[in-house]
Amino acid sequence: MLILLTVPHATPPPRWIGKHPCDVTAETWAHILAEEFGESAMVLTATVHRDAKQGGADQNRPIGRGTIFRNTIDDLMSTTDLLLDIHSFPSRDSFGGDWDVVLLNPPEMCHARVAQRMPLRLEILQGALTRRGFHTTILRGNCENDIVVQARRTGTPAILVEMSERLDIAEAKNAVRAAFREWVFQTNSVEQEEEEDEEDNSSCTVL
Ligand SMILES: [Zn+2]
Repeated sequence: MLILLTVPHATPPPRWIGKHPCDVTAETWAHILAEEFGESAMVLTATVHRDAKQGGADQNRPIGRGTIFRNTIDDLMSTTDLLLDIHSFPSRDSFGGDWDVVLLNPPEMCHARVAQRMPLRLEILQGALTRRGFHTTILRGNCENDIVVQARRTGTPAILVEMSERLDIAEAKNAVRAAFREWVFQTNSVEQEEEEDEEDNSSCTVL
């Protein structure tokens, strides 16, 4: 089993005049989660800044395809069981609320093949985080969330995780790790049940 953690916005620009140079805590969170999954996990971080005005290209957009980062993801996709695309956001109202964690789900039209299983997976993760005190919401992403969209197109379950940069990482990390561990365990058993149901149904059809 391979859990691939991608961090497309971790690299700061060569020069910056704004307030938020990049997803400043995303890479740290990716490594914290990877530690939890041990040898099953791999972290890939883009080394190009996302802003074209700074000479970069957003690695989480269709325009970022074909880079070493994106090609490596593509190469790993056939052996990846789960992709977590990790981001971080700075302000209290970035997603219209005082959220600790935002789970972005691109619409079904972007990824019909695995779409039907994703809402339940997201609800299970939202529940695991909420029970541990993290204010968590699921929001609709869009077809520009290209890493998740492309992974789902190849049949790989994938979600986009946005972590608030206000979280105290030292304080929050054990609970966040526990929530993700519980989530992977629960979704694996849900999938096994679904597969068994599918087998039962197909044998009914034959009879
Ligand atoms: Zn980002």
